[in-house]
Amino acid sequence: MPATTPSRVSVQRMDTYDAERVLDSMRAVLQPLGGMRAFVRPGQRVLLKPNLLFAADPDKAITTHPSVVRAAAILAQEAGGKVSVGDSPGVGDLRRVARACGIDEVIKSLGLEYADFNTTQVVERPGNKVSKRIELAAAVSQADVIISLPKLKTHGQMDFTGALKNQYGLVVGVAKALYHYRLKSRDWLAELIIDINQTAKPALAIMDGIVAMEGAGPSGGEPRPMNVLVAGADLSAVDAVCCHLIGLDPMRTPIARAARSQGFGATSLEEIEVVGQNWESLRQLDFKKVADPEDILSLVPLPKAILNWVSRHLAPRPRIIQEKCIQCLACFKGCPVPPSAIDPRLPRHKQVDDARCIRCYCCHEFCPAKAIRLERTMLDRLLNISGYVSTRKKARQDSGSAIRS
Ligand code: SF4
Ligand code: SF4
Repeated sequence: MPATTPSRVSVQRMDTYDAERVLDSMRAVLQPLGGMRAFVRPGQRVLLKPNLLFAADPDKAITTHPSVVRAAAILAQEAGGKVSVGDSPGVGDLRRVARACGIDEVIKSLGLEYADFNTTQVVERPGNKVSKRIELAAAVSQADVIISLPKLKTHGQMDFTGALKNQYGLVVGVAKALYHYRLKSRDWLAELIIDINQTAKPALAIMDGIVAMEGAGPSGGEPRPMNVLVAGADLSAVDAVCCHLIGLDPMRTPIARAARSQGFGATSLEEIEVVGQNWESLRQLDFKKVADPEDILSLVPLPKAILNWVSRHLAPRPRIIQEKCIQCLACFKGCPVPPSAIDPRLPRHKQVDDARCIRCYCCHEFCPAKAIRLERTMLDRLLNISGYVSTRKKARQDSGSAIRS
């Protein structure tokens, strides 16, 4: 076990991806946590789990930067670990995605291995809330230590994606889509993500917030320099601190709410010891968030069935931007609804089947051309709820909106 308090989070300013400076900075951010040796002992098998959503240039801020993966790998090797790297990309094969994201070069130059994300293993945890048996990449069982290397981003469906959400990539291929389809609600998906974290037990998260993504994340937003590395053994606490850095109340995000309901880590600043430089000075409150029309429903005392109906009719709908679409079919293949609820080959008015679409936004997430926008619904426009929520939140936290009207 690491020699730190469970909810200590370390924040380090870092404004470049220069490989050697990132390495120095990672040493510095881990120092208050006991250094990498507090997490990795000689001979242990270490799985580094970056965010490799799909094949994208590192400058686009969609995936964890190779300098961050390199630094974590070097420190784990120095601690005596045998290091492998892996993820289950939303689109494409791991090696191909790793090449495009600059990670393959790191793996080869440091003599690392690709972790086994081709085969799966069912892991049981009776205490899980949503799924007591979870099929995860075999790499999870093969590792002694899992280190999560997330990218700090806003997220169309979950509001925020960071340390906890990163473990959803331990679920391989179509199983991810099936969970989306079966669970439908983002609150249940959030509970599953906590189940996965409880099952896989990552020992440490080091957040790549040097250049984050704001707006329509996790792939359609814009890079935003946040100039930070954030690390901690309590992944809920790491996410909570990162949310505060971007001016987002963690309790607005379903994953933090699920973490709190399951008692998984610290979700409020009062429970967290933040160490390092004057982290409050690194906050960027105008970081563009995702407007969340469903939030207002929590204020309205309505029966659950009506709330579900209203919620569905307020949730933004995916729409294809014809001029940007390159007909790669990643949206069609990634949609968890059988058969796909989106097909870019159809006439414009038939491309998205709104009646069957479960608003998981996988299509938006996987589109490499930013060719899918999230359109406000008629009900939302009539009630102007997104606008109301945005205005409320703007007053409260100076937030922006990624939802197009
Ligand atoms: S069309 Fe897009 S948002 Fe709708 S179910 Fe399919 S992937 Fe999810
Ligand atoms: S909308 Fe995006 S993911 Fe779908 S075919 Fe067009 S470019 Fe590909």
